[in-house]
Amino acid sequence: MNNQFQIYNTLHRKKELFEPLNPPFVGLYSCGPTVYGDAHLGHARQAITFDILFRYLTFIDYKVRYVRNITDVGHLENDADDGEDKILKKARIEELEPMEVVQRYTNDYHRNMRQLNVLDPSIEPRASGHIIEQQELIRKIMSAGFAYEVNGSVYFDVLKYNESHHYGKLSGRKVEDLLSNTRELDGQSEKKAPLDFALWKKADPSHIMRWSSEWGDGYPGWHLECSAMSTKYLGDKFDIHGGGMDLLFPHHECEIAQNVAGYGREAVKYWMHNNMITINGQKMGRSLGNFITLDELFSGNHENLEMAYHPMTIRFFILQAHYRSTLDFSNEALQSSEKGLQRLFAAVALIEKLIPTEKDSVQVDDLHAKYIAAMDDDLNTPILIAHLFEGAKTINSIYNGKLFIDKSNLEKLKKLYSDFIFDVLGMQSPDEEAVSDSMTGDLIESILQIRQSAKDRKDWNTADEVRNALQSLGISIKDRKDGADWEID
Ligand code: ZN
Repeated sequence: MNNQFQIYNTLHRKKELFEPLNPPFVGLYSCGPTVYGDAHLGHARQAITFDILFRYLTFIDYKVRYVRNITDVGHLENDADDGEDKILKKARIEELEPMEVVQRYTNDYHRNMRQLNVLDPSIEPRASGHIIEQQELIRKIMSAGFAYEVNGSVYFDVLKYNESHHYGKLSGRKVEDLLSNTRELDGQSEKKAPLDFALWKKADPSHIMRWSSEWGDGYPGWHLECSAMSTKYLGDKFDIHGGGMDLLFPHHECEIAQNVAGYGREAVKYWMHNNMITINGQKMGRSLGNFITLDELFSGNHENLEMAYHPMTIRFFILQAHYRSTLDFSNEALQSSEKGLQRLFAAVALIEKLIPTEKDSVQVDDLHAKYIAAMDDDLNTPILIAHLFEGAKTINSIYNGKLFIDKSNLEKLKKLYSDFIFDVLGMQSPDEEAVSDSMTGDLIESILQIRQSAKDRKDWNTADEVRNALQSLGISIKDRKDGADWEID
C-alpha cells in the first residue's frame, strides 16, 4: 500500500506531497458546528469532505487522530465581536436553558451525520469544557504582548502582531487593504483598532453562559477554542487543519495569529478548505429563503424539493464534485445522482453473480491503480467515481459473456469494489430489510385507507372483509375515531 498523496495546501495555494510530521500518526483537526440550529447541506459537505480524508488516510494505513470540535459558547451573531451569542439567542427564543439548546442540536447533528455515514471523530471536544485551556492561552498571548484588556474584555492586538508577522497570510490578505475596507470604530467600541478580535468577552449581568477569570466574569471569543483545543489534543504542531471556505477568514486567520502569539509557532502544516454549496446557482442563506436542512432533504418536506432524498444520495451527490469546487444543488442534479448510485449498487450486486472462467481478459490491478491514483490526486472523488462507472461496464460485459475473469481476479474485483465504494467513499448499500419493512408498512397503510373509504360509505361488509384478510396474515387492527392502528402479531 502506498502512503504518499498530493494534498492541496490553502496556505501555499498549491498541491504538495503529503508527508506526516510523525508517521504513522496523523493529526487532523476540522472545525465542527456551532450547535444552535438544524444541520444543512453546508454542514454535510464539510463533514463529508473531512470524513473522506479521515477514511482515505486510514485506508492507506495511517493512524489518524481526528479532532472535530463542538462550538457551544462564544460564537456571536454575524461572526462579530458584538451581538448576541447564537446559542443564548436560541435559548431565549425557545425558552430553554442554553445547555438544552446545545444538547438538542448536538444530538441532531450526530443523528444527521450517522444518516450520512460520516464516521465519528476520535475526539469531539466542546468549547465550554475547555475554558481553563482557553484562559491559559489568553494569558500566554497577553504576556507575549499581543493582547490587551479593556473593561473586563481581552482583545487580540492585530496591528501589533502584524508588525512582526503577517496577519492575513492564509487568505492572501494585507492588513492595509483590510483596514481600508473596514469601518472606523464608532467611538462606542472599546477596541483599539477595528481588526482586533475578542479573546475574552465581559459578560453583562443578564448573560447566562459565564465563567470567572482575573478579568472578571465572561466567556471566550469564538476563534480561541480551536487554537486551545487543537493544541491540547494534537500538539502545537500538527498535520492537517480543515474547514469550510467560509472559515478561512477571519476564523482560521485568527487561529494562526493566536497560535503564533501564544505558543510561539504556527501549528498547522497543511490547511485544507472545502468549497461552498449553491442552490440553483444562488448562495444558500437563511435570509435568502432557499435554506434547506438535512432533515428536510431526507423527508422531502420543503417547498423547493420535488421528493425526499436518501442520505446516501446526498452523500454521493457531494462526492461527485471535487471538494475544492463549488457544488450547485438542484432537484435535477440530485435525481441524477440517485440514478447513478443505483447503477453503481447494481454493479456491486452483479459482481456476486459473475462466474469465473479459465480465460481471463480483465486487468483488475490496472483498475486498482487508477482508483488509488484518483484519490492520491488531492482526493479526486469525481474521477474515482468515473472510474468506478467504467468498471461497472466491464462487470456488465463479463456478465454478458463478452469479457472473461478468472477466480483470483474475481476475488480481487470484489474486494476492490467493496474497498472503494464502502470503505473509502463511505457509501452504504440500501438495507434490504429496512426497504421491505417500509414497503410493508406503506402497503398496510394503503389497504387501511381503502377500508376507511368503505367505512365512510357505510360498506361494512367490505370493511370487515379487509379486516379479516389482514388478520389472517397476522396483522391485527384497532379502530380509532379517525382511522385505525395496526400491529404485526
Ligand atoms: Zn475552528
